[in-house]
Amino acid sequence: MTDIHIDIKNKTYITADACQHTAIKDFKLSLTSNEFVCLVGPSGCGKTTLLNIIANLDSQYQGEISLAQQYTQPKIGYIFQNPRLLPWRTVRENIELALPVEQSSEIVDSLLDAMQLSNIQHVYPEHLSLGMSRRVSIIRAFAINPDVLLMDEPFVSLDAPTARQVRELLISLWQQRPHTILFVTHDLREAITLADRLVFLSPSPMTVISEIKVNIARENRDDELLIENFRQQLLTAHPEIKNLL
Ligand code: ADP
Ligand code: MG
Repeated sequence: MTDIHIDIKNKTYITADACQHTAIKDFKLSLTSNEFVCLVGPSGCGKTTLLNIIANLDSQYQGEISLAQQYTQPKIGYIFQNPRLLPWRTVRENIELALPVEQSSEIVDSLLDAMQLSNIQHVYPEHLSLGMSRRVSIIRAFAINPDVLLMDEPFVSLDAPTARQVRELLISLWQQRPHTILFVTHDLREAITLADRLVFLSPSPMTVISEIKVNIARENRDDELLIENFRQQLLTAHPEIKNLL
């Protein structure tokens, strides 16, 4: 893998009443190989817009996403806020859709096992809880063995124990198959629990306000007191962050 440099000079939308709305302006961010970066910013600031640009779903912007020379096209996995499973396909079929036929079965088996979903692989999405659907959408993105994984508030509206369990599974998968993760959240505790680096974003038009390394050892990330102390110190040292949460 390689480093990725994001340099968006301008991204505007034309609104329903034909006005121009600048969603992103002079936005620069570099991602290091296999780094876990959390983006934290208020609702409507431009986070989904940014992920869509990185995922090549939106080319209507000025600027560029550049990669180091040795690397051509990274494989990008994208986990949307809404799991977006096809209702007429089973869990397993939803996951296999993303894969070449010859490659599918072993990877899917191991991911279903890791996410504790083997027993419901032939079930249709309508019978799944939200937590299960989210885990399926994570497997679908992991199965392609991405170089870069984009995650757009993937654990919103999960109850606390389920969110915690899915976060732990995510970190264990990431540690087994390292890749770069860009994870959007507005939950500061979640961001501190997961990230190597936090990137705080301004309200629209979105720019980077501050970047902070999380220097808590991975084996201590389940210590809620340690996470809370880090959060308190962060808010004391950077009071401007409070307005973004
Ligand atoms: P976030 O994901 O941080 O909540 P978005 O990227 O969805 O923010 O949106 C950023 C801004 O761009 C918001 O003001 C939103 O209303 C506007 N926006 C997003 N998509 C469109 C669109 N298709 N047309 C017009 N405005 C849009
Ligand atoms: Mg969004």
